[in-house]
Amino acid sequence: MKIIVEATACDLDKEVPARTYAVTVDGETHEMDLCSPHAKPIEDLIKKARQAREQAQAPAAKTVPPMQFNPPTPPPPRSAATAQRPAPRKRGGRRPRIVSLEEIEAQKQASQQGED
Ligand SMILES: [Zn+2]
Repeated sequence: MKIIVEATACDLDKEVPARTYAVTVDGETHEMDLCSPHAKPIEDLIKKARQAREQAQAPAAKTVPPMQFNPPTPPPPRSAATAQRPAPRKRGGRRPRIVSLEEIEAQKQASQQGED
């Protein structure tokens, strides 16, 4: 019984196991089988580049939803508006009207006509 096991060995020291890395530079792809010690510089580069990209994208992501973080602008204080506006209205309703004699006479005639 023969068992053939394929394993990727490091290109540099034939160490097993190794992982295949493909680095494309100017359209030219370099494939390398590297054990973990030899691949460490590439792993570090991948990690650093990923972190750099995430940090570069982070501020951009924060600038998108600022409207959600800022609470909605408080509505204008209604008490001030209502305190100023109803004043002229109440004045007309509560204060006695200044009625001319002609109006009084007209009301009297109207009430008398209404009684009839
Ligand atoms: Zn190696």
